[in-house]
Amino acid sequence: MLRRTPPRLQVLDVFKTSPVRHLTADEVYRQLLERQQPLGLATVYKVLAQFEQAGILQRSDLGHGRHVFELPLEGVTEHGHLVCSNGQVAEFALPHALKDELVQLAEQQGWDLTGFAITAYARPKHTPQAPDSA
Ligand SMILES: [Zn+2]
Repeated sequence: MLRRTPPRLQVLDVFKTSPVRHLTADEVYRQLLERQQPLGLATVYKVLAQFEQAGILQRSDLGHGRHVFELPLEGVTEHGHLVCSNGQVAEFALPHALKDELVQLAEQQGWDLTGFAITAYARPKHTPQAPDSA
């Protein structure tokens, strides 16, 4: 259980009130600046890592090195992302069986599963051009 320190409450408040679900550490840092509650970037990173470890935030890689943090989806332990090249992101619940399988797989290797993320990629459907009427 994490203590309720001002930096932790500030960072949590950003996630609870942000209109955007997926935030990078840099975006959290900038939102705190805009709210006139500045924290050092190192502190932001530290708090995000603590929240991830405590299961308060989920960390995901949306591709192209974009690591985001977000509050878990309601009623869903883990969710994946479908990232479109147009910048949109769709979320989907991952089946519990998948996690069980990964836990087992790690165990067979003599490891403890510490986390996982599923990201899939897409592009807008190609709509055929109308043939030239010439
Ligand atoms: Zn998400």
